Amino acid sequence: MRKLQRSAERFENFIGGQWVPPVSGDYAPNRNPADLDDVVGEYPASGAKDGSAAVDAAKAAFAGWSGTPGPSRGRVLAKAVEIFRSRLEEIARVLCREEGKTLAESRGEIIKGINLFEFYAGEGFRLRGKTVPSEMPKTFTFTFRQPVGVVALISPWNFPFAIPAWKTAPALVAGNTVVLKPASNTPGTAILIAQVLQEAGLPKGVFNLVAGSGGAVGNALVEHPDVKAVSFTGSNAIGIALNERCARRGIRVTCEMGGKNPVVVLEDADLTLACTGILQGAFGSTGQRCTATSRVIVQRRVAEQVVNALVQGASSLRIGNGLNAGIDMGPAVDEAQLQTDLRYIEIGQSEGAKLLFGGKRCKGGDYEKGYFIEPTVFRGVEPGMRIHQEEIFGPVIAIVEVDTFDEAVEAANAVDFGLSSSIYTRDANSAMSFIERSEVGMVHVNNPTVGGEAQLPFGGWKSTGIGEREMSEEGAEFFTQLKTVFFDYTGQPRQSKIY
Ligand code: NAP
Repeated sequence: MRKLQRSAERFENFIGGQWVPPVSGDYAPNRNPADLDDVVGEYPASGAKDGSAAVDAAKAAFAGWSGTPGPSRGRVLAKAVEIFRSRLEEIARVLCREEGKTLAESRGEIIKGINLFEFYAGEGFRLRGKTVPSEMPKTFTFTFRQPVGVVALISPWNFPFAIPAWKTAPALVAGNTVVLKPASNTPGTAILIAQVLQEAGLPKGVFNLVAGSGGAVGNALVEHPDVKAVSFTGSNAIGIALNERCARRGIRVTCEMGGKNPVVVLEDADLTLACTGILQGAFGSTGQRCTATSRVIVQRRVAEQVVNALVQGASSLRIGNGLNAGIDMGPAVDEAQLQTDLRYIEIGQSEGAKLLFGGKRCKGGDYEKGYFIEPTVFRGVEPGMRIHQEEIFGPVIAIVEVDTFDEAVEAANAVDFGLSSSIYTRDANSAMSFIERSEVGMVHVNNPTVGGEAQLPFGGWKSTGIGEREMSEEGAEFFTQLKTVFFDYTGQPRQSKIY
């Protein structure tokens, strides 16, 4: 057990507009996965009582916030955008230290999160309903959106800024009050979000944050009778169970879960473009993105060239502490994720796939301080293998070779997940056929599998996603309930009996 540095700063929960210690009085140190001597901070080891206090605060704030006009709610988010921009570098360093992605990747993630706050600030002016003609004379029929109430947001560690942003901003602008439970690996970035929202003038209790384990805090939020909706992003194992529990309570829930995203490379593709995109998608953020490229399905005639370029690209990556200049790939987020990566690499070999590059923990020098792993490339993968079927969530590429376009589509779809896919081709007909047949929520053409934009719906099909899309206008729909109004201004009893 490493010693806790005395200088580590201690942080608190944010409940009812106050920074408050956990009821238990216990805190947990959080260490940089690239340098375990670097303690990012000490964070509350909260429990059910803290979660409950946050829900109470959110409930008390609901009447005031939901009664605030949408444009005014949006202006608080717009103010937060200014503050986030001014603190971008500080937030990026905390994110880099607690999650391990490089500083450049951390900045990119924060810019994406700021875009989301900016998008939803404007959404305060819209939150559209519709007016349609009624069957009845002198009857005005329309719909409008109202907030759901207190919502619980449960987020994973791999996008500790962007995911809380894409849940918090639409929930707030729609008039809900929020309790956020960030992942245990990444509470620091979420605490900075709370600080910024406080500074932006969000009224007390509208946004609350409770740090602590999923088993203790997450569980309590999901079961709390005053929580009216749960927005979860994370693993399938947790999401499926959480969905069942919310269903039993009869509350709305959205779960965005794992991915196993393929890139199809056809023989007419620009292979340099394809391999650059695959390397970015597979090894960016150490492969720890739900949209990461984990499978490459390539037509046999160009397989050799693609395989060679991917091995060459993997071998040239500089692995290290993302705070340092020139680093391309940081560590696994923690010991458990590192062990998962190594276990799947063993499984791949035992299934008969050919390990072409990587596959080991990085050893020696500063690598001993963190959870570093080599970027890994497998060839000779068959669609039935576990490394083709299961989410690894690490820097591992599985290459499958096929003869025809139809076989490529079949292999791409031969998994339970359905988040993102990509095709590299110069042929518009092949591209459109792939777009049509790919069983995913997001398709890319001549572009890596990763990425999303504030104004576009984000989310998956099949076992990746339960519930609504996130981001864009669709992302706000989950946080609103629709009301249909029949406004009869005849002052007379209805003539027709049929309605
Ligand atoms: P995870 O282990 O499922 O955890 C996600 C969140 O749920 C964390 O805050 C966790 O808390 C909490 N939690 C754990 N047990 C809980 C319980 N019993 N009740 C309520 N909450 C509970 O996932 P992760 O390892 O953080 O994230 C990686 C996964 O997220 C991958 O599968 C990835 O594909 C997926 N992901 C999906 C998307 C998407 O949009 N589809 C985006 C990003 C990531 P603790 O941290 O305390 O355990």
